[in-house]
Amino acid sequence: MHQPVDGLVCTRITIDSDSQTLSLLWNDGHLCIFPLDGLRRACPCAGCQGHEKMHELPDPEIFRVPALMRWEKVKAEIAGSVGLRLHWDDGHNSGIYTWKRLRAMCPSD
Ligand SMILES: [Zn+2]
Ligand SMILES: [Zn+2]
Repeated sequence: MHQPVDGLVCTRITIDSDSQTLSLLWNDGHLCIFPLDGLRRACPCAGCQGHEKMHELPDPEIFRVPALMRWEKVKAEIAGSVGLRLHWDDGHNSGIYTWKRLRAMCPSD
């Protein structure tokens, strides 16, 4: 899980609280757009997903269901070459979303 995606580097991270999305631009020109609420529910940490499920990809449906709440103060912190740590309004920040996982669970493919 903890290796970068083959040859792919995320070159821009945009969090837009107006549209409630987090977008990742990759060096191959692909843009991934995640709804923030879905991304919060997809948090890969053991506390959110349980130890068994944390290495599985979330059900893509998680990004299609209507948002239950708005997220206004989300911050992304780059966790080295591993991925992104997201700091959520609810104080949660234990999940590191690996680059590989983010690209794999992209709802805009
Ligand atoms: Zn994508
Ligand atoms: Zn979590």
